Amino acid sequence: MRDADVVVVGAGAAGLSLARELTAGSGPGPACSVLLVEPPPGPRRSPERTWCFWGEPGAAPDPLASASWERLAVRGRDGGPVTGSSARRYQMIRSADFTRALDAELAAVPGVARYTGTVTGVADDGPHGAAVSGLDTAGRPFRLRGRWVFDSRPPRVLPPARTTLLQHFRGWFVSTAEDRFDPGTAELMDFRTPQPRRGLSFAYVLPFTPREALVEYTEFSPAPLGDAGYAEALRHYTERVRPLGTFTVTRAEQGVIPMTDAVFPRRAGRSVFRVGTAGGATRPATGYTFAAVRRQSAAIAAAYRAGAAPVPPRPHARRHRAMDAALLRALATGRVDGAAFFEDLFRRNPLERVLRFLDGRSSPAEEVAIGLRSPVLPMARSLAELPLLPRRAPVG
Ligand SMILES: Cc1cc2nc3c(=O)[nH]c(=O)nc-3n(C[C@H](O)[C@H](O)[C@H](O)COP(=O)(O)OP(=O)(O)OC[C@H]3O[C@@H](n4cnc5c(N)ncnc54)[C@H](O)[C@@H]3O)c2cc1C
Repeated sequence: MRDADVVVVGAGAAGLSLARELTAGSGPGPACSVLLVEPPPGPRRSPERTWCFWGEPGAAPDPLASASWERLAVRGRDGGPVTGSSARRYQMIRSADFTRALDAELAAVPGVARYTGTVTGVADDGPHGAAVSGLDTAGRPFRLRGRWVFDSRPPRVLPPARTTLLQHFRGWFVSTAEDRFDPGTAELMDFRTPQPRRGLSFAYVLPFTPREALVEYTEFSPAPLGDAGYAEALRHYTERVRPLGTFTVTRAEQGVIPMTDAVFPRRAGRSVFRVGTAGGATRPATGYTFAAVRRQSAAIAAAYRAGAAPVPPRPHARRHRAMDAALLRALATGRVDGAAFFEDLFRRNPLERVLRFLDGRSSPAEEVAIGLRSPVLPMARSLAELPLLPRRAPVG
């Protein structure tokens, strides 16, 4: 007895994208029934967030994007900006908009069903399927079966790694009394923040109107700050570094994204796969995940329609992961000055090349060019020692 062809655990970025791709109806293969499992509102549900990513060159913004920018700026420690325009629009989707739109879209697809319950186990069940077990909203055990199961529950424990840093941040959605922002320019990194002893910090400013923006304080470092630490960092930035004048905070967002060279197994059984952050979709050196999740979902659906085992493809090329591992190591050991590294990345390379690199679309020749404009010796040393370093469970 099978409940659906595919059971998707988790209705976040990866789960919803995958359900949409599997049932999009394009292509010759058989129709796919999908059962999407999501926990009831509560601590297991991922909090609301915003997802930013680059679009295709020349393409209009995604219909779900609530804001997009053609111009990008990076500001060095001396305040000097590096700015440029890109054919690849930087855009932002609010998770609440994404969820609402995909919920409505999927509700109209006959093959899609939803189940509310907290999943506690996913395992192969015979040679041709897998079972998902957990507790329903009344606390009773449930069991669901699918030919294939895709599990997107965020990992509770990170796999062993040579280097694990955290990208941790808090953002304020601010509303200022006077015009303070250029809504045409997204400020990716402003390094005029005090730099931590290990890693780096920067402010990230996404303006929506001349008086409204998301202002985020971000660190790449070993441990998150407490409430007081983020509040102090944001106050310092908005009062001293970039005074906003009178403003109110209308909302806040906060997060921790693992930056690790750990290997996230994408296959957890004959019929069980992990997707999203759980399946290694987060780019180790940047934390960007959303675009990779969408690309991966499309590839899984294409394999399914072709009648092949829908094994999630590797979200990031091996050579990108190696470069990222070297950079994480160089940052964690303090061999490179993180703020200077990223500032120079933008200053010394054409913007399009950097954006393709950050988005995992750069060619090997472009990566060599980027490498030659980076601190060559510390990066080469960090790369060379990687095979000698043990992978350890992250502390904490
Ligand atoms: C605040 C924040 C901002 C981010 N911004 C960006 C960005 O701008 N660009 C970018 O590329 N990446 C960004 N990321 C990283 C990444 O894109 C997101 O974390 C993204 O949501 C990952 O998608 P996911 O599907 O793997 O996980 P999630 O979106 O977290 O989805 C996991 C799903 O699993 C469900 N779940 C959890 N436990 C259970 C359970 N026991 N049973 C059933 N379901 C369960 C949750 O309810 C959730 O729906 C951000 C991350 C955070 C935290």
